[in-house]
Amino acid sequence: MRGVVTTNILSPKILLIENDPTAANEIRAALALASSGFFEVEWVRQLSEGLARLTKGGIDAVLLELSLPDSHGIETFDKLFSTAPEVPILILGGSYNEALAKEAVGRGAQDYLLPGHLNYSLPRALRNAIERKAVEDALYVEKERAVVTLNSIGDAVLCTDISGIVTYLNLVAETMTGWTREEAIGKPLAEVFRIIDGLTRQAARDPMEMAVEQNRTVGLTVNCVLIRRDGFESAIEDSAAPIHDRAGRVTGAVIVFHDVSASRAMSVKMTHSAEHDVVTNLPNRLLLNDRITQSIALARRQNRPIAVIFLDLDRFKYINDSLGHAIGDQLLQSVSKRLLASVRSSDTVSRQGGDEFVILLSGITHPGDAATSARKILLSLTAPHSIGGRDLHIDGSIGISVYPEDGQDPETLIKNADTAMYHAKERGRNNFQFFKAEMNLKVVERQSVEGSLHQALERGEFLLHYQPKINLDTGAITGVEALIRWQQPDRGLLSPSQFVPIAEDCGLIVQIGRWVLREACRQACAWQNAGLPPLPIAVNVSAVEFRDKGFVYGVQAILRETGLEARYLELELTESVLMEDAEATVSVLQELKMMGVHLAVDDFGTGYSSLSYLRQFPIDVLKIDQSFVHQITADPDDSSIVSAIIHMGKSLKYLVIAEGIETREQRTYLQTQLCAEGQGYLFSRPLAAAQFAHLLQMGIRETVVH
Ligand code: C2E
Ligand code: MG
Ligand code: MG
Repeated sequence: MRGVVTTNILSPKILLIENDPTAANEIRAALALASSGFFEVEWVRQLSEGLARLTKGGIDAVLLELSLPDSHGIETFDKLFSTAPEVPILILGGSYNEALAKEAVGRGAQDYLLPGHLNYSLPRALRNAIERKAVEDALYVEKERAVVTLNSIGDAVLCTDISGIVTYLNLVAETMTGWTREEAIGKPLAEVFRIIDGLTRQAARDPMEMAVEQNRTVGLTVNCVLIRRDGFESAIEDSAAPIHDRAGRVTGAVIVFHDVSASRAMSVKMTHSAEHDVVTNLPNRLLLNDRITQSIALARRQNRPIAVIFLDLDRFKYINDSLGHAIGDQLLQSVSKRLLASVRSSDTVSRQGGDEFVILLSGITHPGDAATSARKILLSLTAPHSIGGRDLHIDGSIGISVYPEDGQDPETLIKNADTAMYHAKERGRNNFQFFKAEMNLKVVERQSVEGSLHQALERGEFLLHYQPKINLDTGAITGVEALIRWQQPDRGLLSPSQFVPIAEDCGLIVQIGRWVLREACRQACAWQNAGLPPLPIAVNVSAVEFRDKGFVYGVQAILRETGLEARYLELELTESVLMEDAEATVSVLQELKMMGVHLAVDDFGTGYSSLSYLRQFPIDVLKIDQSFVHQITADPDDSSIVSAIIHMGKSLKYLVIAEGIETREQRTYLQTQLCAEGQGYLFSRPLAAAQFAHLLQMGIRETVVH
């Protein structure tokens, strides 16, 4: 920036460069007369003297004669001007060569004076020259400040004249448009500042035109995208304001804009993460609620149902706890993929957190369609999930609620689907249930059961019943299964289905299971000690107990403590226990096997494991689930499944037992299929210990149940 001249307005100092003393005196007199000492005049006769004086500073204006002893013509002016360009110069004596004087003005002199007009015009010309210079300097400072400011702000600034021709760009505007100032100035705005609507890709409205037309500041254009000269696009926010002249007329416009790509991307990302689950990237509760609300509005208008499916993965917690969260997360991702593949793209699969998923079926025409989807979902989950080199098996329980019957808003629909899901779980998992109003009562009951379950152990409210296993050929008792009962003070004798799932959920099953094992072993010893024939006793082990780290040790300790020989203990595990984590299961089973304990697969046929899959486990006994047995005589399909299981089981050297035999026909059929053993009401219901001892002494007399 050029040096700023401080003008001594009170008594401006004038440097007079004039060789002719007469002319010099004339000028001094004219100045003295006109302004009574207002100007202070210093007189030198040669250019060199003048230059020397100027470099010392303090001169407010120069009166210059171009013809001097040491310099002539325009050269005189040029030398002086280049030494002190900030000082206003007036040329004297234009009369003898007006053309020369004019040339000097063209090169930067403020004015020239004609000798005849000295008295009249000299003081005024000097004053004007000094003032004009001061204004120019002030303007220059102002302009410099504006330029520096415009270049240092983060916003891009672009100015146009009234006809939309670019007149100015700051540095940011240069970078963002890809146009340099030199190239852009003089071009139409639309060429330099190419903007489109990011959504429609149509040209956006010219903000400058609007500002000029409406003579007001025009706000942001939504979704505005600027296309740089090389085609690169950036999201921008812009505003335009009209520029006025002193008379208030619009002379152009200024457009201010900045890049919002980052913040727009951030806000898109924030919206996404606020509405999606981190692990699976599925919509979360928030977005689901939104979708259900929309879907309800549409369904109401179209007078058709929608369904909400609540899915809870069975035993996910144990996989997560035993194999770690990383594996757990991958399993959830795999599950979410299967869910997405089982529903239509118009449906919403969401994760509620934990192992719970909620699926909105918005395109159903009949509640029955939801059952079809539920079946499809359950089936999709059953194939092993191969994660971290292992095959993980998981299944789920589903509850379904239907709009409008089961709820008119998202919260109620989800809550009721959740309730129905609990009922599905109690029904033995891996199935689905539609919501029914009376289920809500049961939830309350469930909570109160959980409350009193905590004290049941200390209060000694549990007891075991015993059911014999029979050799189907001879009718002899070959073993006994211990089945837990809860003598609940308010509710009477409860069966395992009424409390075991709850005990599993809250973890109490581990302690309860220990008690069962100890009591069963103690009872078996007591019978032996009483002289009854020694019988293997079977104890049911739930997945939660089996996965407990102290399980094997607990079994060992109880055998030692009660004195029961290991070969008289049989542990019954369901297929799902075996399917959960095959590798870990094999090693636990082997430890038990080494101890001499027998192992049985309970409820075989209800899971999805095949016999060949089971071969990797050291199993002794296969118990065919009672649902097949019940159907034997009614359904030829079931009977052929049963005979297939019996034959394959036998060929794999398993002892095959049929559960739930209630009729002679069932027994006869099983016998013809060479099933070794059976269990069921036909032979005996589960009995209290004393009654069972009696039965042992007396032997079995078949009773037919209906
Ligand atoms: P499970 O191990 O398959 O036991 C057989 C179930 O079928 C028993 O029901 C038994 O009473 C019943 N049952 C036996 N014969 C017949 C028959 O001919 N017809 C019909 N309809 N049912 C018959 P329960 O005692 O209610 O036990 C149900 C389930 O609860 C058991 O199925 C077992 O999985 C579980 N459970 C029982 N006791 C325990 C225990 O101490 N710990 C664990 N974790 N689970 C247990
Ligand atoms: Mg059992
Ligand atoms: Mg069973």
